[in-house]
Amino acid sequence: MKLGKYSLGVGDRFNHQGKAQLKAIIKAKNQGVSVTPVWNKSNREHNFVHSEPEATRIEADEAVRVLEWDDTYCVDADHINLTNVDRFIDHADFFTLDVAMYIGKTPEPADVDEFIDLCLYLGDSVIIPGIEEPIVISDEILNTVAGKYLAAIKEAGKIYRHIVSKKGIGNFVTEVSMDEVETPQTPVDMFFILKMIASEHIPVQTIAPKFTGRFNKGVDYVGDLEQFAKEFEQDVLVIDFAISEFGLPDDLKLSVHSGSDKFSIYPIMAEIIQKYDKGIHVKTAGTTWLEEVIGLSISGAEGLAVAKEIYTKALTRKEELCAAYADVIDIKDDELPSPEAVESWSGEKYANTLRHIPGHPDYNPNFRQLIHVGYKVAAEMGEKYTKLLEKHEDVVGSCVEENIYDRHLKRLF
Ligand SMILES: [Zn+2]
Repeated sequence: MKLGKYSLGVGDRFNHQGKAQLKAIIKAKNQGVSVTPVWNKSNREHNFVHSEPEATRIEADEAVRVLEWDDTYCVDADHINLTNVDRFIDHADFFTLDVAMYIGKTPEPADVDEFIDLCLYLGDSVIIPGIEEPIVISDEILNTVAGKYLAAIKEAGKIYRHIVSKKGIGNFVTEVSMDEVETPQTPVDMFFILKMIASEHIPVQTIAPKFTGRFNKGVDYVGDLEQFAKEFEQDVLVIDFAISEFGLPDDLKLSVHSGSDKFSIYPIMAEIIQKYDKGIHVKTAGTTWLEEVIGLSISGAEGLAVAKEIYTKALTRKEELCAAYADVIDIKDDELPSPEAVESWSGEKYANTLRHIPGHPDYNPNFRQLIHVGYKVAAEMGEKYTKLLEKHEDVVGSCVEENIYDRHLKRLF
């Protein structure tokens, strides 16, 4: 299965916005930019929302049918591992093998020996075209990288082979993700990780490293832009080298997780992928859910009341809601508005506070991040929430579409 050069992960917590999301992709296509939509939803989200992977498949198929999309699209079993992949097998054709929790686990000594043997032919250094510093190779360095990543890649191999045993070779897209950790992986790490992946015979098509800097959910990138640009460019060059040298799939590309709203690095990524004529996959996970709340807040009194209730409840359960997102959330408590203040807001004020327009006087990234993790509150409202989404489908859908097209696709591609 080929993913296409550009692809966008359009997560959708409540499975109501498939058509609005696809409309944005179609709009881009009409402007001459082909982007493959990938409906991604993690096991964690399914558990929080009490949904099943089948619902994502139904949503994607329905959107594609109604809007007569005749290009590729995928359903991504996002952040899965051996303990939970089975519930996705029949419904997904894109699997994100999350092996972050195996980083740093001690590998089998025999596996380390094998890895060192497989690297022998590389000599004591490798020059990657476009990167000044050669990659130095020594037993010590190989032992160190094996200690960090080999157990993780071995695990990825196990998960991959498990999926193959159920779905058959070539019938799905494979991503390996290591993004949900504190320490970033450098381009040199990427080189050795790709060598391990190739040795494990995983036909990886997208790889999601932890990049330098903070990729907080739903808000802009926080970090050193120059350093990011340097690492991102080197990652692209390392991948290019690994494709020809290690025999990895020729469409292998970077996957940027928590990729929504990273407006300050979009121009950097866009420039680099254009410079080298490369593809990219960007996951925008939960932004659609935020647009639902924005849409409801401006849909009338009933919708605004629910939007306010979501905030107030999320505020009282902040710790619980943020727990699963420690590495990707940064909320300054003293910049969160009080429930009383929010109670007095108009729909316009609520929407402007939540909508990510950098520099808008009302925009509050702390408020936005709290709502981002607050989807559990809406999930617990059940039909009260989803019925409202259906009732105000037009206004909510246009928020979702505008966000993906104007704030994301237009900036990225
Ligand atoms: Zn991720």
